[in-house]
Amino acid sequence: MNLALYREFRPKNFDEVIGQDFIVKTLKNQIKTNRLTHAYLFCGPRGTGKTSCAKIFAKAVNCTHSSDGNPCGMCAECVALSEPNTDIIEIDAASNNRVEEIRDLREKVNFPPLIGKYKVYIIDEVHMLTDSAFNALLKTLEEPPEYVIFILATTEIHKLPATILSRCTRFDFKLVPTQLLSEHLKNIFDKRNISYDEKSLYLIAKAGEGSVRDMLSIADSVASYCDYKIDYQSAEKVIGLSDRESIKNILLSISKRDINEIFKAIKNALGMGKNIQILCKEMADFIKNLIMIKSGVTDYAILDIMPGEFKQYADIANLFNIQYLKSAFSKFAEIELDLKYSLNPENLFESACLEMLDYNDIEKNVSKPDTTYKNATANNVDTKSTTNKNIENFEKVEIPNELKDKNFSVQNSTQNSNMNKIWGNVLRKVKENNLFALSNALTTVNKVEEIAHKLIVHTNDSSSYEMIDNKERIDVILKLVKLFDDSIEAVEIEYDKENASTQDIKDNLKDVFKSKIKFKE
Ligand SMILES: [Zn+2]
Repeated sequence: MNLALYREFRPKNFDEVIGQDFIVKTLKNQIKTNRLTHAYLFCGPRGTGKTSCAKIFAKAVNCTHSSDGNPCGMCAECVALSEPNTDIIEIDAASNNRVEEIRDLREKVNFPPLIGKYKVYIIDEVHMLTDSAFNALLKTLEEPPEYVIFILATTEIHKLPATILSRCTRFDFKLVPTQLLSEHLKNIFDKRNISYDEKSLYLIAKAGEGSVRDMLSIADSVASYCDYKIDYQSAEKVIGLSDRESIKNILLSISKRDINEIFKAIKNALGMGKNIQILCKEMADFIKNLIMIKSGVTDYAILDIMPGEFKQYADIANLFNIQYLKSAFSKFAEIELDLKYSLNPENLFESACLEMLDYNDIEKNVSKPDTTYKNATANNVDTKSTTNKNIENFEKVEIPNELKDKNFSVQNSTQNSNMNKIWGNVLRKVKENNLFALSNALTTVNKVEEIAHKLIVHTNDSSSYEMIDNKERIDVILKLVKLFDDSIEAVEIEYDKENASTQDIKDNLKDVFKSKIKFKE
C-alpha cells in the first residue's frame, strides 16, 4: 500500500516549502512589491521544491487577498486556480519537446487570462526541448504579452542555451540538509499518527539524499512495511543498508539465466518492503563493486564491504565478464532516474533485469549464445534500418512452430490467415530485437484480427495486457507490423476478460526462448 505522503504534504504556500529560504523570501518580496519579471528559471536537483514553488507562485501572483506574499487559498482566484484551469499551464518538456508544441503555446499565449491578472506557463524539465523548440520559445520570451509569466524548471541547467539563460531571473534550489528533512518528516509522521524513533527518522531523512520527494517516497515504503509503527530494524531493512542478500540472489539468478528465479528473487526483494528506487541504486552499487573487484581492487574500505564479504563478492564477480558488468551498471544507473517518473517502476526494473539476459558472455554456467543472437543484439527496432531484402526474407518465413499451439486461434479464421502469418513474423522480429519483456507479454496473445486497417491483439492475461497497453510498446508493435503490412494504421490491445485464465507462462517462455534460458524442471 502506498500512503502517497508526497502528494498529501505538497506545500500549499511558501511557508511550507522546506529548505529554500532565500528563494522563498525573494519570491515573496517580488509579489509583495509587485516587481515581477516575465521569465523565471528554477534550477536544481530533483525533489527540492521547484515545481511546488512554481505552482505557489502562479497562484500568489493572481491572489487578490495574498498575505505576506502567500496565496490565501480562499479567494475566488485561488479557488478557481486550484481546479483544472487554462491560466496556469504546466508543460512537461520531457514529453512535449517538439517545436510544434511550442508553436502551439505561442499561439495560445495571445489569449489573455480568464481568472486572474496573469497567465503562468510552467515548463518542467525545460532542458529536454529540441533546438528548434528552444528557438520558438525564445521568440515568446523576447516579447511576452504583459499578462504572461514563464517559469522554466530544470535539473540540468548546463543544457540550456545561453540565449534562454540571459532572459530569465534565475533561482538555484539547493539539496535540503538532513536535519531539516528529518524535522519535516517528524511533523508529517506526527500528523499521520505514525510512530517512530529518532534513529529511524534520521535514517529515512538521510536516505532521501537532500530531496523531500525521495525522502517521502522512502518514508511511504517504510511506514507501509512497518504498518505505521516504525522501528529502526525494519527501517534499515527497507532502506536496505544492511541487506545485500537480495541483490546477490537477483544476480545469481541472472547468471543462471533462470527466468523463474529472476522473478522470484525480485519479488522476494520487494516483498521485504524494499523501495524499488533503493533496490535499483543498490543494484548499481553492487555491480560497481563487482567491476572494481574484477579490476583488481581489494581494499575493503574502497569497496565499502565487510572483510568477510570479499569472497562472496569475488565469487559473483567471477560469473560475469567485465564488459558485461559495465553494460549492466550503465543500465541500472540509467533507469534509476526513470524509476522516479515511471508509473510502473516494478515493470521497468524487471525489464532491466531481463535485459541483462541479452548481454553476451556470462562467464560460467552458460553455453555461449549463437551468432545470430549476437548480431541481433546490436540492432534496435528501427524500420528504417531494415532493408527491403530483409522484409522479403521475413515474408517467406513460415509461422514458427511454437506459435501453432492450440491457444492461437487465428489459424481457424480464413479471412485473417494472412494476419496470422504477419503476426508470426512480428513475434519473430520482437525476439530478434531482444525485446524480452515485450516478447514475454506477447506470448499470452491468443488472437489477432484486422478490422478496418486496425490490428486488434487479444490477450486473456491481465498482466500482459497492462504491460503492452502503453503508447511506446504499441508503437513498437505497429512499426513491426508495418514492416509486413503497410495498410495497418493502428494497433490496439484488448483484454478478453471473459476468457481470462492463468496461462502457463513458463511453457510459453520456454517455447519462445528455447535454449537461451534454462528452466528448473
Ligand atoms: Zn487568494
